[in-house]
Amino acid sequence: MQRRKVKRKMREKLNSLEEEIRQSLEQANDPAALEELRIKYLGRKGEINKLFKEVAQLPPEEKKAYGEVINRLKNDIADDLNARMEKFKDNSKGDVELLLPGRIPPVGHLHPLTKVFDQIITFFKSYGFTVETGPEIEYDWYNFGALNMSKDHPARDMFSSFFIKDDLLLRSHTSPVQIRTMEKQKPPVKIICPGRCYRYDAFDASHSPVFHQVEALYVDKNVSFGELKWILNEFVKYVFGEKTKYQIRPSFFPFTEPSGELAVSCMVCGGAGCSVCGSSGWLEVLGCGMVHPNVLKNVKISPKKYSGYALGMGVERVAMIKYVIDDIRVFFNNDIRFLEQF
Ligand SMILES: [Zn+2]
Repeated sequence: MQRRKVKRKMREKLNSLEEEIRQSLEQANDPAALEELRIKYLGRKGEINKLFKEVAQLPPEEKKAYGEVINRLKNDIADDLNARMEKFKDNSKGDVELLLPGRIPPVGHLHPLTKVFDQIITFFKSYGFTVETGPEIEYDWYNFGALNMSKDHPARDMFSSFFIKDDLLLRSHTSPVQIRTMEKQKPPVKIICPGRCYRYDAFDASHSPVFHQVEALYVDKNVSFGELKWILNEFVKYVFGEKTKYQIRPSFFPFTEPSGELAVSCMVCGGAGCSVCGSSGWLEVLGCGMVHPNVLKNVKISPKKYSGYALGMGVERVAMIKYVIDDIRVFFNNDIRFLEQF
């Protein structure tokens, strides 16, 4: 009789305690409240330990049964407490500190080559040139033949090319676009040809097997060398700055006659001579000249009626001179420390 009473009392106590703990946990809304509950129920002098002491007075077979139940309850409470504690930790990570300035997300910008590309194109467009593009895989005829370089012409050596087949190659300059445009369009022709070119060069400080060019072509009646000189003057001031000195000196290309090259005063030494400019004080920017009569004949434009000038530049080279960069590879390495400077 006495034993059954104790058992019933024990069971009731367990049930009400379990209910009480569940409710308290539910209401605890910060870590401090949870810690208080941990001490109250699971602490050394806590309710659960008090129960264990009571159970110790029961006969052995009941001691075991109640012991297990209380143990399970103890573990359940501990798990529940820990889970709730973790939840508070997770939430605190998302807290917004309203007084702190917001984080500015990193914003990208144009690649330095793209910037220079855009600048060159903008310049020529402002003088009435239109943009033409063409294939990057070209016929020998468009890359060389039509440009006054027959199969055995020694000048082909200047263009170490990637040939795909005998008469097919990766274009080594954008000049084929000039030929293609003049084939389909009668003068006046006033175009620029921006694009990618390929040459069989080692990837070193001053060479890249892939590079970019912009060429300009103006063919009409009475186009003179004076007009070429004038546009070059405007170009230097626009891209390199008003104070930049320049010179146009004689050169050779099979597709222009006479031919010249434009050099600007060294951006590093200002013309005094340094290691960047090879002590000359000048840096070559582009090649140019009057379109060779044979080139005009090849596209069925009469050299007696029309004349024209052409010029072409490597975009990487212009960018290297403009920003004083001594290694072409930095444009392609995608090193963020370099790119962030522009
Ligand atoms: Zn210099």
